Amino acid sequence: MAERWRNWAHNVTCQPDGFAFPEHVEALADLIRNRYLSKGRAKVAGSGHSFSRVVANDGALSISLSRMKAETSIDRAAQTITVPAGMRLSDFVRLAGANGMAPANLGAVVEQTLAGAIATGTHGTGLSFGGLADLTTGFEFVTGTGDIRTINRVSDPSVWRALAVSLGSLGVITRITIKCENAFNLCLEETPANINETLERLEEHNTARNFGFWLFPGTGQVLLRKFNTTQKPADSPAPIARWFERAILRNGLHEACLAANGIGLLAAKTLNDIIRRNALGRKRVRVGAPADIFASKIRIRQHVMEFSVPYAQAIPAIKAVRAVVDAGRHPAHSPIDVRFCGPDEAWLGLSYGRRSCMIGCVVYQPYRMSMDSSSYFREIDDALRPFDARPHWGKLHYRKGSDIAPLYDRWDDFLSMRDAFDPGRVFANDYLEGILGA
Ligand SMILES: Cc1cc2nc3c(=O)[nH]c(=O)nc-3n(C[C@H](O)[C@H](O)[C@H](O)COP(=O)(O)OP(=O)(O)OC[C@H]3O[C@@H](n4cnc5c(N)ncnc54)[C@H](O)[C@@H]3O)c2cc1C
Repeated sequence: MAERWRNWAHNVTCQPDGFAFPEHVEALADLIRNRYLSKGRAKVAGSGHSFSRVVANDGALSISLSRMKAETSIDRAAQTITVPAGMRLSDFVRLAGANGMAPANLGAVVEQTLAGAIATGTHGTGLSFGGLADLTTGFEFVTGTGDIRTINRVSDPSVWRALAVSLGSLGVITRITIKCENAFNLCLEETPANINETLERLEEHNTARNFGFWLFPGTGQVLLRKFNTTQKPADSPAPIARWFERAILRNGLHEACLAANGIGLLAAKTLNDIIRRNALGRKRVRVGAPADIFASKIRIRQHVMEFSVPYAQAIPAIKAVRAVVDAGRHPAHSPIDVRFCGPDEAWLGLSYGRRSCMIGCVVYQPYRMSMDSSSYFREIDDALRPFDARPHWGKLHYRKGSDIAPLYDRWDDFLSMRDAFDPGRVFANDYLEGILGA
Protein backbone atom coordinates (compact mmCIF):
# COMPACT_ATOMS: atom_id res chain seq x y z
CA MET A 1 0.00 0.00 0.00
CA ALA A 2 1.24 3.53 -0.82
CA GLU A 3 2.33 5.75 2.05
CA ARG A 4 -0.11 8.27 3.54
CA TRP A 5 -0.01 11.91 2.44
CA ARG A 6 -0.47 14.85 4.79
CA ASN A 7 -0.66 18.59 4.38
CA TRP A 8 1.56 21.34 5.87
CA ALA A 9 -0.81 21.94 8.78
CA HIS A 10 -1.11 18.17 9.53
CA ASN A 11 -4.92 18.49 9.72
CA VAL A 12 -5.56 16.63 6.42
CA THR A 13 -4.25 13.14 5.80
CA CYS A 14 -5.20 10.76 3.04
CA GLN A 15 -4.31 7.44 1.48
CA PRO A 16 -3.58 7.73 -2.25
CA ASP A 17 -3.44 4.51 -4.27
CA GLY A 18 -0.04 5.52 -5.67
CA PHE A 19 2.31 8.41 -6.38
CA ALA A 20 3.49 9.62 -9.79
CA PHE A 21 6.18 12.13 -10.75
CA PRO A 22 5.77 12.62 -14.53
CA GLU A 23 8.73 14.35 -16.19
CA HIS A 24 6.94 15.48 -19.37
CA VAL A 25 3.49 16.75 -20.16
CA GLU A 26 2.95 13.78 -22.54
CA ALA A 27 3.65 11.31 -19.71
CA LEU A 28 1.20 13.20 -17.50
CA ALA A 29 -1.43 13.16 -20.26
CA ASP A 30 -1.00 9.35 -20.57
CA LEU A 31 -1.50 8.93 -16.81
CA ILE A 32 -4.68 11.02 -16.84
CA ARG A 33 -6.06 9.30 -19.98
CA ASN A 34 -5.53 5.90 -18.36
CA ARG A 35 -7.33 7.04 -15.23
CA TYR A 36 -10.20 8.38 -17.34
CA LEU A 37 -10.53 5.16 -19.33
CA SER A 38 -10.36 2.99 -16.20
CA LYS A 39 -12.80 5.30 -14.29
CA GLY A 40 -10.08 6.06 -11.75
CA ARG A 41 -9.14 9.28 -10.01
CA ALA A 42 -6.04 11.43 -9.89
CA LYS A 43 -5.10 14.66 -8.16
CA VAL A 44 -2.09 16.92 -8.21
CA ALA A 45 -0.68 17.92 -4.85
CA GLY A 46 1.13 21.25 -4.76
CA SER A 47 3.04 22.03 -1.59
CA GLY A 48 0.13 20.93 0.63
CA HIS A 49 -0.36 24.41 2.09
CA SER A 50 -4.16 24.19 1.91
CA PHE A 51 -5.99 23.65 5.18
CA SER A 52 -9.18 22.40 3.50
CA ARG A 53 -9.57 18.94 1.96
CA VAL A 54 -9.37 20.45 -1.54
CA VAL A 55 -6.20 18.45 -2.23
CA ALA A 56 -7.13 15.23 -0.37
CA ASN A 57 -6.80 12.24 -2.66
CA ASP A 58 -7.98 9.08 -0.92
CA GLY A 59 -7.92 6.16 -3.35
CA ALA A 60 -6.59 8.40 -6.14
CA LEU A 61 -3.27 8.68 -7.89
CA SER A 62 -1.33 11.49 -6.21
CA ILE A 63 0.62 13.40 -8.84
CA SER A 64 3.54 15.73 -8.17
CA LEU A 65 4.86 18.06 -10.86
CA SER A 66 8.15 18.56 -8.99
CA ARG A 67 10.14 16.62 -11.63
CA MET A 68 8.35 18.05 -14.65
CA LYS A 69 10.83 19.29 -17.22
CA ALA A 70 9.06 22.25 -18.79
CA GLU A 71 10.67 25.18 -20.52
CA THR A 72 10.87 28.61 -18.95
CA SER A 73 10.48 31.55 -21.32
CA ILE A 74 10.59 35.29 -20.80
CA ASP A 75 8.93 37.92 -22.96
CA ARG A 76 10.64 41.14 -21.92
CA ALA A 77 8.47 43.41 -24.06
CA ALA A 78 5.25 42.03 -22.57
CA GLN A 79 6.89 41.55 -19.12
CA THR A 80 5.54 38.03 -18.92
CA ILE A 81 7.30 34.90 -17.70
CA THR A 82 6.15 31.38 -18.57
CA VAL A 83 7.20 28.66 -16.13
CA PRO A 84 6.36 25.10 -15.06
CA ALA A 85 3.19 25.27 -12.96
CA GLY A 86 4.69 23.22 -10.13
CA MET A 87 7.33 25.90 -9.50
CA ARG A 88 7.33 27.36 -5.99
CA LEU A 89 6.40 31.05 -5.70
CA SER A 90 9.77 31.66 -4.01
CA ASP A 91 11.61 30.27 -7.07
CA PHE A 92 9.41 32.30 -9.40
CA VAL A 93 10.14 35.51 -7.47
CA ARG A 94 13.88 34.74 -7.68
CA LEU A 95 13.67 34.10 -11.42
CA ALA A 96 11.69 37.30 -12.01
CA GLY A 97 14.14 39.29 -9.86
CA ALA A 98 17.13 37.96 -11.80
CA ASN A 99 15.45 39.38 -14.90
CA GLY A 100 14.63 42.77 -13.39
CA MET A 101 10.96 41.96 -12.79
CA ALA A 102 8.57 41.16 -9.92
CA PRO A 103 4.93 40.07 -9.57
CA ALA A 104 2.78 43.04 -8.51
CA ASN A 105 1.45 41.35 -5.38
CA LEU A 106 2.03 38.34 -3.11
CA GLY A 107 0.44 36.65 -0.09
CA ALA A 108 1.92 36.03 3.35
CA VAL A 109 4.21 33.13 2.32
CA VAL A 110 5.94 32.10 -0.91
CA GLU A 111 6.36 28.38 -0.31
CA GLN A 112 3.29 27.30 -2.30
CA THR A 113 3.42 26.14 -5.91
CA LEU A 114 2.14 28.59 -8.49
CA ALA A 115 -0.61 26.24 -9.69
CA GLY A 116 -1.70 25.33 -6.14
CA ALA A 117 -1.83 28.96 -5.07
CA ILE A 118 -3.91 30.15 -7.99
CA ALA A 119 -6.19 27.08 -7.89
CA THR A 120 -7.58 28.10 -4.49
CA GLY A 121 -7.79 31.87 -5.01
CA THR A 122 -4.70 32.77 -2.99
CA HIS A 123 -4.40 36.54 -2.57
CA GLY A 124 -2.39 39.25 -0.89
CA THR A 125 -3.76 42.65 0.08
CA GLY A 126 -4.53 45.85 -1.82
CA LEU A 127 -7.73 47.18 -3.39
CA SER A 128 -5.94 47.66 -6.72
CA PHE A 129 -5.11 43.95 -7.00
CA GLY A 130 -7.17 40.81 -7.51
CA GLY A 131 -5.87 37.44 -6.32
CA LEU A 132 -2.67 35.88 -7.69
CA ALA A 133 -4.69 34.18 -10.46
CA ASP A 134 -5.39 37.65 -11.81
CA LEU A 135 -1.68 37.98 -12.64
CA THR A 136 -1.86 35.04 -15.06
CA THR A 137 -2.29 35.48 -18.80
CA GLY A 138 -2.22 31.92 -20.10
CA PHE A 139 -2.03 28.22 -19.26
CA GLU A 140 -1.04 24.87 -20.67
CA PHE A 141 -3.11 22.12 -19.05
CA VAL A 142 -4.11 18.48 -19.31
CA THR A 143 -7.87 17.88 -19.28
CA GLY A 144 -9.65 15.04 -17.48
CA THR A 145 -9.65 13.05 -20.72
CA GLY A 146 -5.89 13.38 -21.14
CA ASP A 147 -5.85 16.09 -23.83
CA ILE A 148 -3.14 18.76 -23.76
CA ARG A 149 -4.52 22.30 -24.25
CA THR A 150 -2.88 25.72 -24.35
CA ILE A 151 -5.06 28.75 -23.71
CA ASN A 152 -4.66 32.48 -23.52
CA ARG A 153 -6.59 35.05 -21.46
CA VAL A 154 -7.35 37.23 -24.48
CA SER A 155 -8.25 34.64 -27.09
CA ASP A 156 -9.97 32.14 -24.73
CA PRO A 157 -11.50 34.40 -22.07
CA SER A 158 -14.17 31.99 -20.84
CA VAL A 159 -11.80 29.05 -20.40
CA TRP A 160 -9.27 31.34 -18.71
CA ARG A 161 -11.94 32.65 -16.30
CA ALA A 162 -12.95 29.12 -15.37
CA LEU A 163 -9.45 27.63 -15.18
CA ALA A 164 -7.70 30.45 -13.30
CA VAL A 165 -9.36 29.54 -9.98
CA SER A 166 -10.61 26.00 -10.49
CA LEU A 167 -9.82 24.08 -7.26
CA GLY A 168 -7.95 21.50 -9.31
CA SER A 169 -11.28 20.36 -10.77
CA LEU A 170 -10.86 21.12 -14.49
CA GLY A 171 -7.42 19.80 -15.31
CA VAL A 172 -3.77 19.68 -14.38
CA ILE A 173 -2.09 22.99 -15.15
CA THR A 174 1.42 22.33 -16.43
CA ARG A 175 2.64 25.77 -17.53
CA ILE A 176 1.63 29.24 -16.41
CA THR A 177 2.34 32.66 -17.90
CA ILE A 178 2.53 35.45 -15.34
CA LYS A 179 2.48 39.19 -15.96
CA CYS A 180 5.14 41.05 -13.99
CA GLU A 181 6.23 44.64 -13.39
CA ASN A 182 9.66 46.24 -13.31
CA ALA A 183 11.39 45.15 -10.08
CA PHE A 184 10.54 47.49 -7.20
CA ASN A 185 11.12 47.94 -3.50
CA LEU A 186 8.37 48.36 -0.93
CA CYS A 187 8.33 50.32 2.30
CA LEU A 188 6.16 48.69 4.98
CA GLU A 189 5.03 50.96 7.81
CA GLU A 190 3.47 49.15 10.75
CA THR A 191 1.68 51.33 13.31
CA PRO A 192 -0.36 50.32 16.37
CA ALA A 193 -3.85 51.85 16.44
CA ASN A 194 -7.27 51.56 17.99
CA ILE A 195 -9.78 49.40 16.10
CA ASN A 196 -12.68 51.90 16.18
CA GLU A 197 -10.55 54.74 14.77
CA THR A 198 -9.18 52.36 12.15
CA LEU A 199 -12.66 51.45 10.92
CA GLU A 200 -13.67 55.12 10.81
CA ARG A 201 -10.65 55.88 8.58
CA LEU A 202 -10.76 52.75 6.42
CA GLU A 203 -11.05 54.63 3.10
CA GLU A 204 -8.09 56.85 3.95
CA HIS A 205 -5.93 53.87 5.00
CA ASN A 206 -6.84 52.11 1.79
CA THR A 207 -5.17 54.83 -0.29
CA ALA A 208 -1.85 53.06 0.43
CA ARG A 209 -0.71 50.82 -2.47
CA ASN A 210 -1.43 47.83 -0.24
CA PHE A 211 -3.13 48.08 3.13
CA GLY A 212 -4.30 45.59 5.72
CA PHE A 213 -4.34 45.26 9.48
CA TRP A 214 -3.90 42.72 12.21
CA LEU A 215 -6.53 42.71 14.95
CA PHE A 216 -5.59 41.46 18.40
CA PRO A 217 -8.70 39.80 19.88
CA GLY A 218 -9.92 41.13 23.20
CA THR A 219 -7.57 44.14 23.21
CA GLY A 220 -9.37 46.67 20.97
CA GLN A 221 -6.02 47.21 19.27
CA VAL A 222 -4.75 46.63 15.74
CA LEU A 223 -1.50 46.93 13.83
CA LEU A 224 -1.94 48.97 10.64
CA ARG A 225 0.19 47.64 7.78
CA LYS A 226 0.76 50.04 4.87
CA PHE A 227 2.91 49.13 1.90
CA ASN A 228 4.07 51.72 -0.65
CA THR A 229 6.69 51.60 -3.37
CA THR A 230 9.94 53.40 -2.60
CA GLN A 231 13.20 54.30 -4.29
CA LYS A 232 15.06 53.54 -1.05
CA PRO A 233 17.41 50.53 -0.99
CA ALA A 234 16.46 47.43 0.97
CA ASP A 235 17.33 47.41 4.70
CA SER A 236 20.25 45.31 5.74
CA PRO A 237 19.59 44.48 9.40
CA ALA A 238 22.42 42.86 11.35
CA PRO A 239 22.02 39.05 11.14
CA ILE A 240 21.73 38.79 14.94
CA ALA A 241 18.95 41.42 15.03
CA ARG A 242 17.10 39.65 12.23
CA TRP A 243 17.46 36.30 14.01
CA PHE A 244 16.23 37.78 17.32
CA GLU A 245 13.19 39.34 15.63
CA ARG A 246 12.23 36.23 13.64
CA ALA A 247 13.29 33.31 15.82
CA ILE A 248 12.82 34.68 19.32
CA LEU A 249 10.05 37.30 19.18
CA ARG A 250 7.90 36.25 16.24
CA ASN A 251 8.18 32.51 16.68
CA GLY A 252 9.82 31.47 20.00
CA LEU A 253 8.05 33.84 22.41
CA HIS A 254 4.83 33.51 20.43
CA GLU A 255 4.90 29.71 20.52
CA ALA A 256 5.72 29.54 24.25
CA CYS A 257 2.80 31.88 25.07
CA LEU A 258 0.48 29.86 22.82
CA ALA A 259 1.46 26.66 24.63
CA ALA A 260 0.79 28.35 28.00
CA ASN A 261 -2.65 29.29 26.67
CA GLY A 262 -3.15 25.72 25.43
CA ILE A 263 -2.59 24.22 28.90
CA GLY A 264 -4.72 26.88 30.60
CA LEU A 265 -1.90 28.95 32.19
CA LEU A 266 -2.67 32.06 30.14
CA ALA A 267 -6.06 33.46 29.09
CA ALA A 268 -6.39 34.22 25.36
CA LYS A 269 -6.82 37.96 26.07
CA THR A 270 -3.58 38.05 28.12
CA LEU A 271 -1.81 36.02 25.44
CA ASN A 272 -2.96 38.44 22.73
CA ASP A 273 -1.83 41.42 24.77
CA ILE A 274 1.64 39.95 25.35
CA ILE A 275 2.02 39.14 21.66
CA ARG A 276 0.78 42.59 20.63
CA ARG A 277 3.11 44.50 22.98
CA ASN A 278 6.23 42.38 22.53
CA ALA A 279 6.17 40.72 19.12
CA LEU A 280 3.60 41.27 16.39
CA GLY A 281 2.00 44.59 17.34
CA ARG A 282 5.02 46.92 17.51
CA LYS A 283 5.70 50.00 15.43
CA ARG A 284 8.37 49.50 12.78
CA VAL A 285 9.36 50.49 9.26
CA ARG A 286 11.01 48.13 6.77
CA VAL A 287 12.19 48.44 3.17
CA GLY A 288 12.87 45.52 0.85
CA ALA A 289 11.91 43.53 -2.22
CA PRO A 290 8.19 42.53 -2.34
CA ALA A 291 8.79 38.90 -1.37
CA ASP A 292 10.75 39.96 1.74
CA ILE A 293 8.16 42.54 2.76
CA PHE A 294 4.84 40.83 1.91
CA ALA A 295 5.90 37.32 2.91
CA SER A 296 7.65 35.76 5.87
CA LYS A 297 8.56 32.29 7.10
CA ILE A 298 5.71 30.94 9.23
CA ARG A 299 7.02 28.20 11.49
CA ILE A 300 4.22 27.63 13.99
CA ARG A 301 1.65 25.14 12.72
CA GLN A 302 -1.84 26.54 12.59
CA HIS A 303 -5.42 26.07 11.45
CA VAL A 304 -6.75 28.96 9.41
CA MET A 305 -10.16 30.00 8.10
CA GLU A 306 -10.77 33.00 5.90
CA PHE A 307 -13.79 34.66 4.28
CA SER A 308 -14.14 37.29 1.59
CA VAL A 309 -16.97 39.79 2.22
CA PRO A 310 -17.97 42.66 -0.11
CA TYR A 311 -15.91 45.77 0.68
CA ALA A 312 -19.13 47.69 1.28
CA GLN A 313 -19.87 45.27 4.16
CA ALA A 314 -16.36 45.31 5.62
CA ILE A 315 -17.12 47.33 8.74
CA PRO A 316 -20.20 45.41 9.97
CA ALA A 317 -18.49 42.11 9.09
CA ILE A 318 -15.36 43.01 11.08
CA LYS A 319 -17.58 44.08 13.99
CA ALA A 320 -19.41 40.75 13.83
CA VAL A 321 -16.11 38.86 14.01
CA ARG A 322 -14.96 41.11 16.87
CA ALA A 323 -18.13 40.31 18.82
CA VAL A 324 -17.25 36.59 18.62
CA VAL A 325 -13.55 36.87 19.45
CA ASP A 326 -13.95 39.48 22.20
CA ALA A 327 -16.57 37.38 24.01
CA GLY A 328 -13.71 35.14 25.18
CA ARG A 329 -15.48 31.81 24.57
CA HIS A 330 -12.75 30.49 22.25
CA PRO A 331 -8.95 30.36 22.01
CA ALA A 332 -9.03 33.25 19.50
CA HIS A 333 -5.38 33.73 18.66
CA SER A 334 -3.64 36.82 17.31
CA PRO A 335 -3.76 38.14 14.81
CA ILE A 336 -7.08 38.25 12.99
CA ASP A 337 -5.74 39.12 9.53
CA VAL A 338 -7.81 41.74 7.67
CA ARG A 339 -6.88 42.36 4.04
CA PHE A 340 -8.48 43.93 0.99
CA CYS A 341 -8.73 42.89 -2.66
CA GLY A 342 -9.82 44.42 -5.94
CA PRO A 343 -12.21 42.56 -8.27
CA ASP A 344 -11.14 39.19 -9.70
CA GLU A 345 -11.98 38.16 -13.26
CA ALA A 346 -11.82 34.43 -12.52
CA TRP A 347 -15.37 33.13 -12.05
CA LEU A 348 -14.55 31.42 -8.74
CA GLY A 349 -12.09 34.12 -7.62
CA LEU A 350 -12.82 35.05 -4.00
CA SER A 351 -13.24 38.64 -5.13
CA TYR A 352 -15.07 37.90 -8.39
CA GLY A 353 -17.07 40.89 -9.59
CA ARG A 354 -16.55 43.03 -6.49
CA ARG A 355 -13.99 44.63 -4.20
CA SER A 356 -13.59 42.57 -1.05
CA CYS A 357 -12.43 42.55 2.52
CA MET A 358 -10.75 39.28 3.54
CA ILE A 359 -11.02 38.29 7.21
CA GLY A 360 -8.79 35.44 8.40
CA CYS A 361 -8.84 33.72 11.80
CA VAL A 362 -6.16 31.43 13.17
CA VAL A 363 -5.81 28.78 15.88
CA TYR A 364 -2.17 27.84 16.40
CA GLN A 365 -0.99 24.33 17.20
CA PRO A 366 2.14 25.13 19.27
CA TYR A 367 4.70 22.33 19.70
CA ARG A 368 2.31 20.02 17.76
CA MET A 369 -0.27 20.37 20.55
CA SER A 370 -3.75 19.72 19.26
CA MET A 371 -5.84 22.85 19.85
CA ASP A 372 -9.46 22.54 18.73
CA SER A 373 -10.50 25.19 16.22
CA SER A 374 -13.89 23.84 15.17
CA SER A 375 -16.27 25.49 17.66
CA TYR A 376 -14.53 28.88 17.22
CA PHE A 377 -14.44 28.61 13.44
CA ARG A 378 -18.07 27.48 13.24
CA GLU A 379 -19.14 30.54 15.20
CA ILE A 380 -17.14 32.82 12.87
CA ASP A 381 -18.61 31.03 9.85
CA ASP A 382 -22.15 31.64 11.23
CA ALA A 383 -21.41 35.26 12.18
CA LEU A 384 -20.33 36.05 8.60
CA ARG A 385 -23.25 34.37 6.78
CA PRO A 386 -25.35 37.59 6.65
CA PHE A 387 -22.54 39.32 4.70
CA ASP A 388 -22.42 37.21 1.49
CA ALA A 389 -19.16 35.79 2.81
CA ARG A 390 -17.30 33.51 0.39
CA PRO A 391 -14.98 30.95 2.01
CA HIS A 392 -11.34 30.72 0.89
CA TRP A 393 -11.12 27.46 -1.08
CA GLY A 394 -7.86 26.47 0.58
CA LYS A 395 -8.87 27.26 4.17
CA LEU A 396 -11.25 25.75 6.70
CA HIS A 397 -14.99 26.39 6.42
CA TYR A 398 -18.29 24.56 6.91
CA ARG A 399 -20.14 25.51 3.73
CA LYS A 400 -21.68 23.26 1.09
CA GLY A 401 -22.15 24.02 -2.60
CA SER A 402 -25.79 25.01 -2.01
CA ASP A 403 -24.61 27.75 0.41
CA ILE A 404 -21.89 28.98 -1.91
CA ALA A 405 -23.45 28.81 -5.39
CA PRO A 406 -25.72 31.87 -4.89
CA LEU A 407 -22.61 33.94 -4.05
CA TYR A 408 -21.05 33.47 -7.50
CA ASP A 409 -22.85 34.81 -10.62
CA ARG A 410 -21.06 32.43 -13.00
CA TRP A 411 -21.37 29.27 -10.88
CA ASP A 412 -23.41 27.37 -13.48
CA ASP A 413 -20.99 28.35 -16.25
CA PHE A 414 -18.16 26.97 -14.15
CA LEU A 415 -20.06 23.68 -13.68
CA SER A 416 -20.55 23.46 -17.47
CA MET A 417 -16.78 23.85 -17.95
CA ARG A 418 -16.27 21.06 -15.45
CA ASP A 419 -18.59 18.80 -17.46
CA ALA A 420 -16.66 19.67 -20.61
CA PHE A 421 -13.11 19.26 -19.26
CA ASP A 422 -13.57 16.52 -16.65
CA PRO A 423 -16.59 14.46 -17.81
CA GLY A 424 -15.34 11.34 -15.97
CA ARG A 425 -14.65 13.27 -12.72
CA VAL A 426 -11.04 12.08 -12.67
CA PHE A 427 -10.17 15.06 -10.45
CA ALA A 428 -13.09 14.68 -8.00
CA ASN A 429 -12.70 14.10 -4.27
CA ASP A 430 -15.00 14.35 -1.24
CA TYR A 431 -14.36 18.10 -0.88
CA LEU A 432 -15.17 18.89 -4.50
CA GLU A 433 -18.27 16.69 -4.43
CA GLY A 434 -19.52 18.65 -1.41
CA ILE A 435 -18.93 21.94 -3.20
CA LEU A 436 -19.38 21.30 -6.93
CA GLY A 437 -21.53 18.16 -6.78
CA ALA A 438 -20.88 14.67 -8.12
C1 LIG B 1 1.47 29.29 6.22
C2 LIG B 1 0.43 29.57 5.16
C3 LIG B 1 0.25 30.87 4.70
C4 LIG B 1 -0.72 31.14 3.72
N1 LIG B 1 -0.89 32.42 3.31
C5 LIG B 1 -1.88 32.71 2.41
C6 LIG B 1 -2.12 34.05 1.99
O1 LIG B 1 -1.42 34.98 2.36
N2 LIG B 1 -3.15 34.28 1.14
C7 LIG B 1 -3.97 33.27 0.71
O2 LIG B 1 -4.91 33.53 -0.02
N3 LIG B 1 -3.74 31.98 1.06
C8 LIG B 1 -2.72 31.70 1.90
N4 LIG B 1 -2.48 30.38 2.25
C9 LIG B 1 -3.27 29.32 1.59
C10 LIG B 1 -2.49 28.75 0.40
O3 LIG B 1 -1.96 29.76 -0.43
C11 LIG B 1 -3.41 27.91 -0.49
O4 LIG B 1 -4.03 26.93 0.26
C12 LIG B 1 -2.69 27.29 -1.71
O5 LIG B 1 -3.59 26.53 -2.43
C13 LIG B 1 -1.57 26.39 -1.36
O6 LIG B 1 -0.83 26.06 -2.53
P1 LIG B 1 -0.16 24.61 -2.65
O7 LIG B 1 0.87 24.65 -3.70
O8 LIG B 1 0.27 24.17 -1.31
O9 LIG B 1 -1.41 23.77 -3.16
P2 LIG B 1 -2.09 22.50 -2.48
O10 LIG B 1 -2.63 22.89 -1.15
O11 LIG B 1 -1.16 21.35 -2.51
O12 LIG B 1 -3.29 22.25 -3.50
C14 LIG B 1 -4.34 23.17 -3.58
C15 LIG B 1 -5.24 22.84 -4.77
O13 LIG B 1 -4.52 23.11 -5.97
C16 LIG B 1 -4.61 22.00 -6.83
N5 LIG B 1 -3.42 21.97 -7.68
C17 LIG B 1 -2.15 21.92 -7.29
N6 LIG B 1 -1.34 21.87 -8.37
C18 LIG B 1 -2.16 21.91 -9.45
C19 LIG B 1 -1.93 21.89 -10.84
N7 LIG B 1 -0.71 21.83 -11.36
N8 LIG B 1 -3.00 21.94 -11.67
C20 LIG B 1 -4.25 22.02 -11.19
N9 LIG B 1 -4.53 22.02 -9.86
C21 LIG B 1 -3.49 21.98 -9.01
C22 LIG B 1 -4.70 20.82 -5.90
O14 LIG B 1 -5.21 19.68 -6.56
C23 LIG B 1 -5.64 21.38 -4.87
O15 LIG B 1 -6.95 21.30 -5.34
C24 LIG B 1 -1.52 30.07 3.20
C25 LIG B 1 -1.32 28.77 3.66
C26 LIG B 1 -0.33 28.52 4.62
C27 LIG B 1 -0.13 27.11 5.12
